[in-house]
Amino acid sequence: HAKSTGKNKLCVYDKAMEVAMQERLALEHDLRTDFHARRLQMYLQPQIDSDGRTVSAEALLRWSHATRGDVPPAQFIPLAEATGLILPLGEWVLETACRQLVAWACNPRTEALTLSVNISVRQLHDLGFVSCALDVLRRTGANPSRLVLEVTESLFAENIETIIERMMLLRERGIRFALDDFGTGYSSLSYLQRMPLDEIKIDRSFIRGIQEGGRGATITRMIISLAKNLGIKTVAEGVETSEQKDFLYRHGCFHYQGYICGEAVPPEDFVAFLH
Ligand code: C2E
Ligand code: MG
Ligand code: MG
Ligand code: MG
Repeated sequence: HAKSTGKNKLCVYDKAMEVAMQERLALEHDLRTDFHARRLQMYLQPQIDSDGRTVSAEALLRWSHATRGDVPPAQFIPLAEATGLILPLGEWVLETACRQLVAWACNPRTEALTLSVNISVRQLHDLGFVSCALDVLRRTGANPSRLVLEVTESLFAENIETIIERMMLLRERGIRFALDDFGTGYSSLSYLQRMPLDEIKIDRSFIRGIQEGGRGATITRMIISLAKNLGIKTVAEGVETSEQKDFLYRHGCFHYQGYICGEAVPPEDFVAFLH
């Protein structure tokens, strides 16, 4: 009897696996189709300095599917990474961001803005990444010194030397680098010492912890002072309250982004942030 129950369970398990697998394949198919039909969009979230001025933006992908509705990046980015679609997708985001920079360069109100683009692990590990990025700059005519590439710590788990070399090559052309979600990955302080970084983004989870007055606040202060001593700028992520904003300002972090100043919007709506 026990045996047959076990067998049934196995069947149910197989069925569930199969359903999950099919759903994944369907989502991947839809993502590929919508990407090629140019139905994915680049949104922009403002980054604010201590005077309350919008000084930059982060490009964030948005996918609104006809029947699925809005699919969050947390769901489709890992899928794109697993299937390799992130390479053409990432190139498209970079190119769209560069075209935005070129458009901004024509207007004195927007010409000083910088634009940050998230770069996935898979992209930096790709042999063609450096030439791909330089090609995009060449064909769009964007000013590389207005471009910031955001990379995450997880990406340094392997091939650190190669990655640093690639970052250096791009930095020689004027592109800047930010370390995203700082403190949540495979943190190694030695990477901080060796990597060509211009910016550290303090992860939202620490900012959220500021209010509780406990560890989040302590860790945030530590990151700010560490970055300051290394001569690296800090940007706080996910700032939602004025208490958090004041805390950051008091402790020397003068750039932030978060719902307190606005979520990501379509590029045409972004100008509204420039008061
Ligand atoms: P990230 O790069 O750390 O981006 C910040 C995320 O925090 C965004 O989520 C943003 O909408 C959200 N956020 C900003 N302010 C607040 C706030 O005040 N409160 C809260 N609760 N959330 C806030 P989003 O857009 O869902 O993106 C999630 C992640 O997906 C990004 O995290 C990034 O790692 C990835 N991603 C998004 N677009 C791209 C892309 O074009 N390429 C790659 N490789 N990854 C992307
Ligand atoms: Mg980011
Ligand atoms: Mg990121
Ligand atoms: Mg982040």
